Amino acid sequence: MDVLKDILDNLNDSVITLDSRGQILMFNNEALRIQKSISEKPIRIGDYFTEIVSEARKPVVADILKTLKRQRKPVKNFAECSTPFGSSVYLEVNFIPVYGPKKELKYVNVISQDITSRKVFEKKLRASSEHFSNLLDNAHAFIFSVDSRGYVVDWNNHCAELTGYSKKEILSCRVSEFLIKQEHLRVFTELMERLLQNESVGNCELPVQTRNGAEIIVMTSATPRTNANGQVVGATLVGHDVTELTNYRRSLERQVENQTAELAQVLKKEKEAVELKSRFVSIASHEFRSPLSSIDFAASFIKQNAATIGKKKLNEKVEVIEKHVNHMSHLLEDVLNYSRNESAKIKIIPAKIDLDGFVRDTVEEVMCLCKHSHHICVSTNKLGSLLTDEKLLRNVLINLLSNAVKFSPGREEVLLNVLDEGQFVTVEVSDEGIGISRNELEVIFQPFIRGKSADEFPGTGLGLSIVKKAVELLQGSIRVKSRPGRGSVFKVIIPRLRLVA
Ligand code: ADP
Repeated sequence: MDVLKDILDNLNDSVITLDSRGQILMFNNEALRIQKSISEKPIRIGDYFTEIVSEARKPVVADILKTLKRQRKPVKNFAECSTPFGSSVYLEVNFIPVYGPKKELKYVNVISQDITSRKVFEKKLRASSEHFSNLLDNAHAFIFSVDSRGYVVDWNNHCAELTGYSKKEILSCRVSEFLIKQEHLRVFTELMERLLQNESVGNCELPVQTRNGAEIIVMTSATPRTNANGQVVGATLVGHDVTELTNYRRSLERQVENQTAELAQVLKKEKEAVELKSRFVSIASHEFRSPLSSIDFAASFIKQNAATIGKKKLNEKVEVIEKHVNHMSHLLEDVLNYSRNESAKIKIIPAKIDLDGFVRDTVEEVMCLCKHSHHICVSTNKLGSLLTDEKLLRNVLINLLSNAVKFSPGREEVLLNVLDEGQFVTVEVSDEGIGISRNELEVIFQPFIRGKSADEFPGTGLGLSIVKKAVELLQGSIRVKSRPGRGSVFKVIIPRLRLVA
């Protein structure tokens, strides 16, 4: 017996054995210790167990003891006992019944364990978890958690404030359905994919849609959430609303883009101006040098032979001078026309013209200019009158016809087809001359650009750029079809509606 008592006294559990009426038959040292710590009442053999428990526990214990008589299985019960010093002792109490041969209750072993330290730990844990959840709930940051399928499982107050969705509304809803617009789904899907592969993601700009349809940009950092086995079961996303900053950054980016484009435009214009200048210098030096030297030569001849020169010879030389002066004044006229156009000084002066008469006069003028080297074959339908800028239109026609004549040496005819189409008038000038190569077709309307095969013909490369400008001013369009050696067709369309009174 002493051995048994020794064993019981060295147990960490408190053991009290009661008879079937609840009187104490035996107890061990731990029972004594616990009783001393929670009550001034001593524990004594022969006392009823209900007498040594607190007033509050009395009915509970009495009830358990009664139950044990009917129900043949142990009962577990937790007790919070106040000590005389105001603290609490927590006990896990097991009432283990022992029955006799006739299944009558013989004893009850009351085995208690002091679980105060466990309870205190649990309480601290709960308090700290509440503290953290409170902290997260009220943090001035966008914090929410999702499960592995992207359903919201946690949602703090700041999220509710920013999005307009309360926690109650959004819990168990899919982020992709409520918070992310279709066009941004890829950002969220890629983010989730990385998280589910147990990767943390920092500084991701997540566009979030609010309840009222607005969009906010949340600078998000996200970490995977794992279960006790280390498996990823979802993710927690923490972020800040950076909408204003992002918009500001985007507007700055746009400004920089615009300014870069403007700068590129200015640089392009500047480059074009430099090119134009150098083209002009080379054309001018070429086109002015030879007439000037012819004039110089003729003038020197007259000067040197002033006394002896006959009338015939003098006339010849004067004609040479006149011819070259004429040529140069044409060239200058072209340059002036071009620069006038360029500085947009040209104002359209519309006047009603008789189209038929206009075509006839202009053709005659060109025939005179080219000294009837070619015949200009005119075909028209019934031409009405047209409200237009006569000077500009004449410029167009003269330039196209004289080019057709100039660039078809050895040919006799140039065709001019003018059609009054009601809404517009078309002017088509065709020749069977040297034609223009495909790559030159793209550039011949630029000032001072001349075709390679035009080298042997006089010119400044300004005629077509003047034509193009004039056609634009008349709100029309110009097209050219040409093949080297086969001739060219220039077609101009001048709309009537906008010009007719
Ligand atoms: P220019 O006649 O003074 O050379 P233009 O601006 O009128 O200048 O014409 C530019 C270039 O276009 C010409 O140098 C020539 O190469 C080409 N071109 C224009 N018209 C014709 C045409 N009818 N046939 C062949 N080439 C042409």
